Amino acid sequence: MSSPDPIISVADYHMHTPLCKHAEGWPDEYALVAIEKNLAEIGFSDHNPMAGYFDDWRMADDEFPQYLDLISQSQNKFSDDIDICLGLECDFLPGQEAWIEKLTQRADFDYLIGSVHYLEPGWAVDDPDPKWASRWQGSIESIWHQYWTLYRQCAASGLFDFLAHPDLVKKFGHRPGGDLQRFYEPTIEVIAANNIAIEVSTAGLRKPCAEMYPSQDFLKLANQAGIPIVISSDAHRPEEVGADFGNAIKMAQTAGYCETARFKRRERRMEPLL
Ligand code: ZN
Ligand code: FE
Ligand code: FE
Ligand code: ZN
Repeated sequence: MSSPDPIISVADYHMHTPLCKHAEGWPDEYALVAIEKNLAEIGFSDHNPMAGYFDDWRMADDEFPQYLDLISQSQNKFSDDIDICLGLECDFLPGQEAWIEKLTQRADFDYLIGSVHYLEPGWAVDDPDPKWASRWQGSIESIWHQYWTLYRQCAASGLFDFLAHPDLVKKFGHRPGGDLQRFYEPTIEVIAANNIAIEVSTAGLRKPCAEMYPSQDFLKLANQAGIPIVISSDAHRPEEVGADFGNAIKMAQTAGYCETARFKRRERRMEPLL
């Protein structure tokens, strides 16, 4: 008998499917990796459909039933091996709240993730297309300001159980000068006041910033404010499931965390971080 893997105490709730058109591998393949890595449980959270055409990075609204079917097939197939939750990663944009609310009533979700990718329709801060490179020039301070303003609105919307990749705006390494606490502190205050959790996402390690989302400073403040965390891979391919979770657990413990959040039917409970 081999000793249990330490990541057995953590879930990975942020994983995608090919329906979003930029992920590879079907849910069964992700589930097999999660079982192999001894994850406590997993959940799928593909990019939500929008009311009409919005971009090429998500399922269409008429594919939503197919998404639900895919996840329920994997749930049944692996029911003896691992719990598979149903989630959704929702793009928060002011004006979309009513759409998100209606959409998320169309299924029994275990949790909903709120994400800020878009500062405005048509421009996402994480879009690697070189055509956006010039946008950042001389504008890092105002882009950060806009990003965190939206992140606070996302937190305050009351729509979500946890928030994705807190400082995604650093993805390409663009950071304004000075102490970044001026962005973190007011954001943490809003998240804590709304009693929702945040992600520690290992995806940033695979991006140009080569850092977890959020930074260690942000996470320490979040812990002091009593904000719960989940640890997520944001896997867009099966081999990314549970990626770097050992490092994420260490980072969380360094920030003072000793538990992570679990979700079932949108109810949160805490489990010890071992
Ligand atoms: Zn994605
Ligand atoms: Fe995202
Ligand atoms: Fe994602
Ligand atoms: Zn994501």
